[in-house]
Amino acid sequence: MEATQAVKTLKNYINGEWQAPSSDRVEDVINPATGEVIGKIAFSTKEDTERAIDAARQAFDSGVWADATTHERAAVLLKIADLIEAEAEELAKAETIDNGKILAEAEFDVADAATCFRYYAGIIMHPDGETYHVPDNVQAMVVKEPVGVTGLIVPWNFPILMSVWKLAPALAAGNAIVYKPSEVTPMNAQRLFEIFEEAGVPHGVVNMVVGDGPTVGQTISESHEVDMVSFTGSTAVGREIMKAAAGNLKKISLELGGKSPNIVFADADLETAVDYGLFGIFFGSGQVCSAGSRILVEESIYDRYVERFAERAQLIKVGPGLDPTSNMGAIVSEKQLNRILDYIEIGKSEGARLVAGGKRVVDNNLDKGFFIEPTVFADCTPEMRIVREEIFGPVVTIQKFSTEEEAIRLANDTDYGLAGGVFSGDGAKALRVIKKVRAGITWVNDYHPTYVEAPWGGYKQSGIGRSLGKYSLEEFQEVKQINIRLSVEPNGWFPAE
Ligand code: NAD
Repeated sequence: MEATQAVKTLKNYINGEWQAPSSDRVEDVINPATGEVIGKIAFSTKEDTERAIDAARQAFDSGVWADATTHERAAVLLKIADLIEAEAEELAKAETIDNGKILAEAEFDVADAATCFRYYAGIIMHPDGETYHVPDNVQAMVVKEPVGVTGLIVPWNFPILMSVWKLAPALAAGNAIVYKPSEVTPMNAQRLFEIFEEAGVPHGVVNMVVGDGPTVGQTISESHEVDMVSFTGSTAVGREIMKAAAGNLKKISLELGGKSPNIVFADADLETAVDYGLFGIFFGSGQVCSAGSRILVEESIYDRYVERFAERAQLIKVGPGLDPTSNMGAIVSEKQLNRILDYIEIGKSEGARLVAGGKRVVDNNLDKGFFIEPTVFADCTPEMRIVREEIFGPVVTIQKFSTEEEAIRLANDTDYGLAGGVFSGDGAKALRVIKKVRAGITWVNDYHPTYVEAPWGGYKQSGIGRSLGKYSLEEFQEVKQINIRLSVEPNGWFPAE
C-alpha cells in the first residue's frame, strides 16, 4: 500500500515556511474505516515548538497583525471563508477519511467552519469599547486588545471545526497563534494553513506544530512566551494544562468532557424524544463532547421508550463514512475502539441490561476498520461506571425517574456540566427543569444543534470559559482602561516647594 501510493508526511508551518519536524519519530495516520495508511506524522520536538513560539512572539510584537485595522483583518477572514467554501467537498471528504465520521457530518463541519470565519469577520466591525466622563475631568475609555501569543490545542473528534472555533476568533482579535492539531487526525490542518497563506495572513502570525501532547502541547502550555492557552480535549489533560499554565499565570480556556443528561417526561411526544435521543448519542458515533449519553425517562413511559429506542438503534446502519447509505461511521482509532469495548464489558458486569448492540461490527469487510454497534444499556443506576464516566462512543445509558425533583437530582449527579436536554409537552415544566440543569449548553425538545452566535462551554469539570459568539472573541482579548485628563495641570498632592 505505502509503496504504491505516496502518502504525505506532515510538516510544521513556522514563520510562513513549511518545515519538516526535526525528530526521527514518524507514525502512520490511519483511515479508521479501512485501516489504510493515509499519511505520516512526524513528532515535533520541544525545540521545533519553541521555534514556532518565537516566530509567533516576534510577529505579535511587530504589530503586523495586532495593529492591522479591523477592516484589514476582516477582509482576510472573509477570504479564508471563501477559500474553505471553494473546496468544501474535498475538505469534507478528507475529514471523513481522517476521522471516520459520515460525509454528511463532515460537510456540515466544513460549512460551519466557513460560517465561523464570516461571523468573526462581522463582529470585529462592531463597536467594542466604552467611554465614561469620570471625576477630575477625566475621560475614561475602555478598549479591547489582543491577548498576545495564543496556544491552540485541539482534539480529534471534529478536527477542522474545533480548530476553526479557536483560530477564527483568535485571528479576529489580532493575536499570534501556535496551533497543534490532534496527532490522531492531523490531515486537514495542513490544507487549512495553506489556505491561511493564500488568504494573506502575515508570516509568523499563524504557526502550526504537529506532534503529541506531552511534548508539543506541554511546551506550549508551559512557555512563558505564550500569553494564553485555549484547549479542547479531555478533562484529565485540561487539568495538566492548568498546572503547566501556572508558571506565568497565562490565561486559559478549557473545553472539556461531558456526561450529559437527556430528560424525557411522560408528556413528551414519544417518537420525537426517541428520535432526538438517538441523535443525541449516536451522531458522530457518540464521540461528541456534548453527547446526550445519559437518558433519564419518566417511569410511566419507561418501558415503551426503552423498547422503541432499542428497536430504532438497531436500524442504524454502521459503515464507512464515504458510503452514502451509512448512518453512523467509524470510531476514530483502534485505541478508542478498545476503550469503548472495555466500557461495554464494564456495563455488563455492573448489571446494566443490554438492550441493543454491544459488539464490534466486522461483517461486510468492516473488520479492517473500527466499528461498533449502537449500544443501549437500560435499567442503569447512578453508581455504575458507565453512568459516571465519559465513554466517548456509541454507548448510552437509560435510567428511570418518578418525579421532577428526582429527574433534576439525577441529571446533576455528575462531575461534568457540559450539556443537557429536556423533552416535555409542558413548556413551563420544561423551562423550569432546564434552568435547574447545571450545564452550559442546553436544549428543550431538541438536541445538539450549535450556533456560531451562542456561547459553547461547560460548568463544573467540563471546563472554563466559552467558545463561539462574542464570548470567544472576548476570551482572546485583554481589556484596557485609558484615562485621559482633559485639563493639563498638576494635581498638587505633594508639596511643590
Ligand atoms: P485529549 O485530551 O487526549 O487530547 C486533546 C489534545 O490535547 C490533543 O491535541 C493532544 O495531543 C493534546 N494533549 C495531550 N496531552 C497533553 C498535554 N499533557 N499537554 C498539552 N496537550 C496535550 O482529548 P481527545 O481524546 O483528543 O478528545 C476527546 C476529548 O475531548 C473528550 O473528553 C471530549 O469530551 C473532549 N472534547 C470537548 C469538547 C468541548 O467543547 N467541551 C469538544 C470536543 C472534544
